[in-house]
Amino acid sequence: MDSSSIIRKTAADQRVTPNFLDYAAERQRFSWGAVGRELQGVAQAGGGINIAAEAVERHASGALRDKTAFRFLSRGKPARDVSFGELSRLTSRFANVLSQLGIDRGERVFVLAGRIPELYVAVLGGLKHGAVVSPLFSAFGPEPIATRVNLGAGRVLVTSDMLYERKVAKWRDKMPTLDHVLLLAEDGGSTNIPGTLDLATLMAAAGDTSEVAATGAEDMSLLHFTSGTTGTPKGAVHVHGAVITHFATGRYALDLHADDIYWCTADPGWVTGTSYGIIAPLLHGVTSIIDSEEFDAERWYGLLQDEGVTVWYTAPTAVRMLMKAGAAIPRKYRFPQLRFIASVGEPLNPEAVRWGKEVLGLPIHDNWWQTETGGIMIANTPAFDIKPGSMGRPLPGIDAAIMRRHEDGTATLIEEPDVEGELALKRGWPSMFRAYLNNEERYRKCFAGPNNEWYLTGDLAKRDADGYFWFVGRADDVIKSAGHLIGPFEVESALMEHPAVAEAGVIGKPDPVVGEVVKAFVSLKKGFEESEALRMELLGHARKRLGAAVAPKEIAFLPSLPRTRSGKIMRRLLKARELGLPEGDTSTLEGNA
Ligand code: ATP
Ligand code: MG
Repeated sequence: MDSSSIIRKTAADQRVTPNFLDYAAERQRFSWGAVGRELQGVAQAGGGINIAAEAVERHASGALRDKTAFRFLSRGKPARDVSFGELSRLTSRFANVLSQLGIDRGERVFVLAGRIPELYVAVLGGLKHGAVVSPLFSAFGPEPIATRVNLGAGRVLVTSDMLYERKVAKWRDKMPTLDHVLLLAEDGGSTNIPGTLDLATLMAAAGDTSEVAATGAEDMSLLHFTSGTTGTPKGAVHVHGAVITHFATGRYALDLHADDIYWCTADPGWVTGTSYGIIAPLLHGVTSIIDSEEFDAERWYGLLQDEGVTVWYTAPTAVRMLMKAGAAIPRKYRFPQLRFIASVGEPLNPEAVRWGKEVLGLPIHDNWWQTETGGIMIANTPAFDIKPGSMGRPLPGIDAAIMRRHEDGTATLIEEPDVEGELALKRGWPSMFRAYLNNEERYRKCFAGPNNEWYLTGDLAKRDADGYFWFVGRADDVIKSAGHLIGPFEVESALMEHPAVAEAGVIGKPDPVVGEVVKAFVSLKKGFEESEALRMELLGHARKRLGAAVAPKEIAFLPSLPRTRSGKIMRRLLKARELGLPEGDTSTLEGNA
């Protein structure tokens, strides 16, 4: 790594004193027990813990009662501000509705809705009641919805009249566990569809106070399905104790301060939109803006400016789309309030880190985690310099390592720096998943190493001598060519440095001589046309940057790359299509409703 490209942290960059200043000292001082004691402001019977109590009740009964918790935005409508106090009353109503329907603690409530107030109320109200909540993408088609509801034995589904009629009604008899469907009317009125209940009517009739369920740290809270990037999505089981991780990571990785205006662009249909789109900001008493609209470069720059967003948590796919939309749009806007930007979901190309600095005036802090970890594990934080292209360092309380997995299923730690292996985390952080739903065998196989203490993540990475982690690729995506192991990320990042390239997806294509050859698919930025000359230029650019052994041998242009709903490039689809093989599970493919 060229040291001139390191982005140094200086005091002048910080608009407020960061929560996290001294990496080594904070890691030394840190304990999960101490963070847990900072929470638990609302004493739970038997020393229990409940996510909704910490996120909502703690503030609703204190000084922040009238402060805006969520500001809901939607095109053509006035903003709707919901205070912590109102959120407490609404979530109590929803918890009471569940009680009346006879839903017990631990039973499953699915939520299928756009980013509208009712979704947030149902998630938090469900948790308050002690139900297990599973938020789904509203853009899922009927089959993925039914599969998930069945896998999770959903008893209640909260959705809208339109979504119900389009996606659920015909499949209803294929979901035998589903006893109650609660509908909200998209036109704001009430609904009257046979076999369903009108949510607004039930909410109006329910009382607006309720006891928080006396859940314990190990009680199941949320069921999240993985993105399905590498295959059929898995159901990851999470517990109420996870809230301690959400709180700590909001402090260290997102630098949340009480007076922030925070925007997490993720949908609650995947884990980021829940852990950091709902829970973490509430825990810190922060005001979140929530936009119900889909991506639109002009709108997004406008929101950052007009809402005075201070902390922004987004994803590489969004950053790449903003880059693709060109430099002219952001010139019309100013972002004087913005002070911290973070990103998750896919590797963040160095080019994107630098784009942040140029266009928004701030570097983008990449961080790494997955559905299974429940919260951010490795991050670029305010406490140290950014090496663009690195995921950063393990947060306080997190021990990460690189491991070698052996044929017999055992694994050993790799101590030397700069060696590729599987990224692993030492168990013991509170938000670790506790099961893959109905797949004990698969869960068990994730743990190995000394004392069986390490969770192996399925991602390949390396750690440098300064303790920074570098993503190489998913174990499934790594390309073996003429004796070299090639991570697609490295090749994609090199292509992204070319001014014409908006995004790149790289696969290994079977080859009788070298095993696999590297093939890249690229989409172009606005203003560039595909041509043979450009293809040759890109091949040359990549060869210069990467050397002939690693550079792609073939490049194909696509208008855009296939992506999951959570915004991840689906390399396995690029590969299946290239080789004419079956596409496998496409339930999470964007555009596949
Ligand atoms: P599935 O497990 O169903 O294939 P998925 O792994 O994409 O889907 P998620 O849990 O949503 O489902 O995504 C987590 C994965 O995303 C990580 O394991 C990693 O591969 C990738 N990822 C997340 N953040 C980063 C990052 N900062 N850098 C590189 N990769 C990342
Ligand atoms: Mg995964």
